[in-house]
Amino acid sequence: MNKITLDEISQQTKAVIRDIPDFPKKGIIFKDIMPLLANHDVFSKTIKFMADHYRGRGITKVIGIEARGFILAAPIAIELQAGMIPVRKKGKLPYKTISKTYDLEYGQDTLEIHEDAVKPGEKVLIVDDVLATGGTIKAVCELVEKLNAKVESIAMLIELDFLKGREKISGHDLFSLIKY
Ligand code: AMP
Repeated sequence: MNKITLDEISQQTKAVIRDIPDFPKKGIIFKDIMPLLANHDVFSKTIKFMADHYRGRGITKVIGIEARGFILAAPIAIELQAGMIPVRKKGKLPYKTISKTYDLEYGQDTLEIHEDAVKPGEKVLIVDDVLATGGTIKAVCELVEKLNAKVESIAMLIELDFLKGREKISGHDLFSLIKY
């Protein structure tokens, strides 16, 4: 069987992502990945494609960002024979953490990682579902770098091109499966 192309997997994945207008607030078109997760055929191909993109690059840890990032990061980590590390909202992780507070459109948010989650020099892949303004990913890159590990790449299921999140993390390698 021929290998699936980026265009093919992108189209198949797009077909099972649902737009929810005005969620969680007016003016936002929420990209709902639940129909993708419920579709074994497309979900497994999506995970495989994203993992294949990174094979052989020496990644030892895959970080998933709460909460939908967890769902994508865990199977990608297993495919890459790497460990999976959750980055969580403030107050959720049980052991000693380091944290980063960053600005949202309105207000601020804080993300945390266990201080022993990644070792100095480790090659890390960061995974999330949607790249919007890029504030979240930038904060996670800073957490990884504070622990002296290397952000080998960032893998996003969806990139909202028009929000230019990519510019906020321009020093990093970034792969997105789908663009809008
Ligand atoms: P940002 O920091 O602006 O790049 O926002 C990224 C975070 O917000 C990700 O964890 C996404 O899950 C979530 N997010 C932002 N915009 C959307 C959207 N239109 N649909 C679904 N999730 C979104």
